[in-house]
Amino acid sequence: MGSHHHAGILFAAGIFIFVSAAHAEEERRELGPHVHGHGTLAIVIEDNNVQMELSAPGMDIVGFEYEAETAREKKAVEAALTDLKEPLKLVVLPEPAGCTVTSADVKIVVEDHKVHDAVAESDKTAETEEHAGPHTEFRATYALACAEAASITSIYFPFFDRFSGSEKLDVTAINANGQTAYQVTREVPRLEEM
Ligand SMILES: [Zn+2]
Repeated sequence: MGSHHHAGILFAAGIFIFVSAAHAEEERRELGPHVHGHGTLAIVIEDNNVQMELSAPGMDIVGFEYEAETAREKKAVEAALTDLKEPLKLVVLPEPAGCTVTSADVKIVVEDHKVHDAVAESDKTAETEEHAGPHTEFRATYALACAEAASITSIYFPFFDRFSGSEKLDVTAINANGQTAYQVTREVPRLEEM
Protein backbone atom coordinates (compact mmCIF):
# COMPACT_ATOMS: atom_id res chain seq x y z
CA MET A 1 0.00 0.00 0.00
CA GLY A 2 2.85 2.40 0.87
CA SER A 3 4.48 2.22 -2.53
CA HIS A 4 1.11 2.77 -4.13
CA HIS A 5 0.77 6.10 -2.35
CA HIS A 6 4.20 7.19 -3.48
CA ALA A 7 3.28 6.34 -7.05
CA GLY A 8 0.32 8.71 -6.66
CA ILE A 9 2.57 11.57 -5.64
CA LEU A 10 4.37 11.32 -8.98
CA PHE A 11 1.16 12.25 -10.71
CA ALA A 12 0.38 15.78 -11.76
CA ALA A 13 -1.57 17.85 -9.27
CA GLY A 14 -4.93 17.24 -10.97
CA ILE A 15 -4.77 13.48 -10.99
CA PHE A 16 -3.24 13.40 -7.54
CA ILE A 17 -6.52 14.58 -6.05
CA PHE A 18 -8.38 11.96 -8.08
CA VAL A 19 -5.98 9.19 -7.09
CA SER A 20 -5.95 10.25 -3.44
CA ALA A 21 -9.71 10.05 -3.27
CA ALA A 22 -9.56 6.55 -4.68
CA HIS A 23 -6.98 5.62 -2.07
CA ALA A 24 -9.03 6.98 0.81
CA GLU A 25 -11.76 4.65 -0.34
CA GLU A 26 -9.31 1.80 -0.60
CA GLU A 27 -8.05 2.31 2.95
CA ARG A 28 -11.53 2.08 4.36
CA ARG A 29 -12.53 -1.14 2.75
CA GLU A 30 -9.63 -2.28 0.60
CA LEU A 31 -11.66 -3.04 -2.53
CA GLY A 32 -15.04 -1.53 -3.19
CA PRO A 33 -17.58 -3.64 -5.03
CA HIS A 34 -16.34 -3.76 -8.59
CA VAL A 35 -18.09 -4.72 -11.77
CA HIS A 36 -16.64 -7.61 -13.69
CA GLY A 37 -15.73 -6.62 -17.22
CA HIS A 38 -15.11 -3.01 -16.26
CA GLY A 39 -11.67 -1.57 -15.58
CA THR A 40 -10.18 1.89 -15.29
CA LEU A 41 -7.20 3.65 -16.80
CA ALA A 42 -5.87 7.03 -15.71
CA ILE A 43 -3.38 8.64 -18.06
CA VAL A 44 -1.55 11.86 -17.31
CA ILE A 45 0.54 13.55 -19.97
CA GLU A 46 2.79 16.31 -18.70
CA ASP A 47 5.51 17.64 -20.99
CA ASN A 48 7.10 14.47 -22.35
CA ASN A 49 6.30 12.35 -19.33
CA VAL A 50 3.33 10.04 -19.23
CA GLN A 51 1.95 8.29 -16.15
CA MET A 52 -0.65 5.57 -16.43
CA GLU A 53 -2.56 3.71 -13.74
CA LEU A 54 -4.58 0.66 -14.78
CA SER A 55 -6.98 -1.26 -12.59
CA ALA A 56 -9.04 -4.29 -13.63
CA PRO A 57 -10.91 -7.06 -11.80
CA GLY A 58 -9.12 -10.43 -11.68
CA MET A 59 -12.09 -11.84 -13.56
CA ASP A 60 -11.24 -9.59 -16.53
CA ILE A 61 -7.56 -10.47 -16.53
CA VAL A 62 -7.39 -14.19 -15.72
CA GLY A 63 -11.04 -15.26 -15.49
CA PHE A 64 -11.10 -15.97 -11.75
CA GLU A 65 -10.58 -14.13 -8.47
CA TYR A 66 -9.65 -16.86 -6.02
CA GLU A 67 -6.02 -17.67 -5.31
CA ALA A 68 -4.54 -19.61 -8.22
CA GLU A 69 -4.39 -23.29 -7.31
CA THR A 70 -3.88 -25.40 -10.38
CA ALA A 71 -0.76 -25.22 -12.54
CA ARG A 72 -2.91 -23.80 -15.31
CA GLU A 73 -4.26 -21.01 -13.06
CA LYS A 74 -0.81 -20.15 -11.72
CA LYS A 75 0.51 -20.00 -15.26
CA ALA A 76 -2.35 -17.67 -16.26
CA VAL A 77 -1.52 -15.29 -13.40
CA GLU A 78 2.20 -15.31 -14.23
CA ALA A 79 1.49 -14.68 -17.90
CA ALA A 80 -0.87 -11.82 -17.06
CA LEU A 81 1.66 -10.16 -14.74
CA THR A 82 4.35 -10.51 -17.41
CA ASP A 83 2.16 -9.06 -20.15
CA LEU A 84 0.94 -6.21 -17.93
CA LYS A 85 4.58 -5.18 -17.52
CA GLU A 86 4.62 -4.31 -21.23
CA PRO A 87 1.91 -1.63 -21.33
CA LEU A 88 2.71 -0.37 -24.81
CA LYS A 89 1.58 -3.71 -26.27
CA LEU A 90 -1.78 -3.29 -24.51
CA VAL A 91 -2.28 0.46 -24.74
CA VAL A 92 -0.75 1.55 -28.03
CA LEU A 93 0.28 5.18 -28.37
CA PRO A 94 0.91 6.89 -31.73
CA GLU A 95 4.30 6.06 -33.25
CA PRO A 96 5.43 9.72 -33.55
CA ALA A 97 5.09 10.12 -29.78
CA GLY A 98 8.18 7.91 -29.41
CA CYS A 99 7.30 6.65 -25.92
CA THR A 100 9.28 4.07 -23.95
CA VAL A 101 8.45 2.51 -20.60
CA THR A 102 10.68 3.71 -17.76
CA SER A 103 8.87 1.86 -14.97
CA ALA A 104 6.11 -0.72 -14.69
CA ASP A 105 4.76 -1.81 -11.32
CA VAL A 106 2.09 -4.52 -11.39
CA LYS A 107 0.40 -6.06 -8.40
CA ILE A 108 -2.67 -8.01 -7.38
CA VAL A 109 -4.85 -6.53 -4.67
CA VAL A 110 -6.86 -9.10 -2.73
CA GLU A 111 -9.95 -7.95 -0.97
CA ASP A 112 -10.30 -8.41 2.75
CA HIS A 113 -13.16 -10.89 2.88
CA LYS A 114 -14.60 -9.79 6.23
CA VAL A 115 -14.65 -6.16 5.21
CA HIS A 116 -16.28 -7.11 1.92
CA ASP A 117 -19.14 -8.92 3.66
CA ALA A 118 -19.86 -5.86 5.77
CA VAL A 119 -19.77 -3.57 2.76
CA ALA A 120 -21.91 -5.80 0.60
CA GLU A 121 -25.04 -5.24 2.69
CA SER A 122 -24.86 -1.46 2.83
CA ASP A 123 -23.40 -0.75 -0.58
CA LYS A 124 -25.22 -2.99 -3.01
CA THR A 125 -26.12 -1.41 -6.30
CA ALA A 126 -27.86 -2.80 -9.33
CA GLU A 127 -24.54 -2.65 -11.17
CA THR A 128 -22.61 -4.52 -8.54
CA GLU A 129 -21.97 -8.08 -9.46
CA GLU A 130 -21.86 -10.17 -6.33
CA HIS A 131 -20.22 -13.53 -6.16
CA ALA A 132 -19.12 -15.79 -3.36
CA GLY A 133 -15.51 -15.66 -2.31
CA PRO A 134 -12.95 -12.89 -2.41
CA HIS A 135 -12.48 -10.35 -5.18
CA THR A 136 -9.12 -9.43 -6.64
CA GLU A 137 -7.93 -6.62 -8.81
CA PHE A 138 -4.85 -6.25 -10.96
CA ARG A 139 -3.33 -2.80 -10.52
CA ALA A 140 -0.53 -1.44 -12.63
CA THR A 141 1.32 1.85 -12.46
CA TYR A 142 3.47 2.92 -15.39
CA ALA A 143 5.84 5.75 -16.19
CA LEU A 144 6.76 6.49 -19.79
CA ALA A 145 9.23 8.88 -21.35
CA CYS A 146 8.27 10.20 -24.78
CA ALA A 147 10.05 12.10 -27.52
CA GLU A 148 6.94 14.06 -28.53
CA ALA A 149 4.11 13.44 -26.08
CA ALA A 150 1.99 16.12 -27.78
CA SER A 151 1.50 13.54 -30.56
CA ILE A 152 -0.61 11.42 -28.23
CA THR A 153 -3.99 12.33 -29.66
CA SER A 154 -5.35 8.82 -29.99
CA ILE A 155 -4.86 5.48 -28.22
CA TYR A 156 -5.57 1.98 -29.47
CA PHE A 157 -6.31 -0.84 -26.99
CA PRO A 158 -5.11 -4.35 -27.92
CA PHE A 159 -5.74 -4.79 -24.17
CA PHE A 160 -9.13 -6.23 -25.11
CA ASP A 161 -7.59 -8.82 -27.44
CA ARG A 162 -5.20 -9.95 -24.73
CA PHE A 163 -7.73 -10.00 -21.88
CA SER A 164 -10.90 -11.64 -23.10
CA GLY A 165 -12.83 -10.99 -19.86
CA SER A 166 -12.57 -7.23 -20.20
CA GLU A 167 -15.43 -5.38 -21.88
CA LYS A 168 -14.86 -1.76 -20.95
CA LEU A 169 -12.27 0.67 -19.62
CA ASP A 170 -13.22 4.01 -18.14
CA VAL A 171 -10.36 6.28 -19.15
CA THR A 172 -9.48 9.55 -17.45
CA ALA A 173 -6.96 11.51 -19.47
CA ILE A 174 -5.18 14.65 -18.39
CA ASN A 175 -3.13 16.57 -20.91
CA ALA A 176 -2.50 20.17 -21.95
CA ASN A 177 -6.18 20.41 -22.95
CA GLY A 178 -7.36 19.54 -19.45
CA GLN A 179 -9.06 16.49 -17.98
CA THR A 180 -11.39 14.37 -20.07
CA ALA A 181 -13.27 11.16 -19.35
CA TYR A 182 -13.64 8.57 -22.09
CA GLN A 183 -14.98 5.08 -22.35
CA VAL A 184 -13.34 2.49 -24.56
CA THR A 185 -14.95 -0.86 -25.16
CA ARG A 186 -14.23 -4.23 -26.73
CA GLU A 187 -16.42 -3.11 -29.66
CA VAL A 188 -14.66 0.24 -30.05
CA PRO A 189 -11.17 -0.25 -28.56
CA ARG A 190 -9.98 3.16 -29.60
CA LEU A 191 -9.82 6.60 -28.11
CA GLU A 192 -9.71 9.51 -30.57
CA GLU A 193 -9.30 13.27 -30.54
CA MET A 194 -7.69 13.57 -27.16
ZN1 LIG B 1 -14.86 -9.55 -8.39
